[in-house]
Amino acid sequence: MRCPFCGHLDTQVKDSRPTEDHAAIRRRRFCPECGSRWTTFERVQLRELVVVKSNGDKAPFDRDKLARSLAIALRKRPVDEDRIERIVNGIQRRLEALGENEIPTKVVGEMVMENLRDLDMVAYVRFASVYKNFREARDFEEFVEHLGEDDLAD
Ligand SMILES: [Zn+2]
Repeated sequence: MRCPFCGHLDTQVKDSRPTEDHAAIRRRRFCPECGSRWTTFERVQLRELVVVKSNGDKAPFDRDKLARSLAIALRKRPVDEDRIERIVNGIQRRLEALGENEIPTKVVGEMVMENLRDLDMVAYVRFASVYKNFREARDFEEFVEHLGEDDLAD
């Protein structure tokens, strides 16, 4: 693998081991040219997924981006990184299982909301407020009210 820092082609794997849930192999890599170290993950990919935005734009499904938005929603919440990794894996498997290569962003967003709702209410509201793109505070308040109704219904 090419060094992401200096572009040197001959880099080394220093350590290779499965992640905690054994869903991926984590490799520590080293560049003898510039001394940089970084990590790569080897994961199962059953399908090439493409995410389609509401305006029709398409982009390859980016699990790192998904993990980052989860990490932002879960900032300072009592949820560890491995849990985020497992959620992302679960969402990716479910998306692959849909049998479609092109997935509307809405579907991904709903899956994230579902996971966060079960995991952490604060993170759920944070994610929902960004995901649903509330333009007015009032919309957000209404949303939180409906949230309360759902809780009572459960
Ligand atoms: Zn390098």
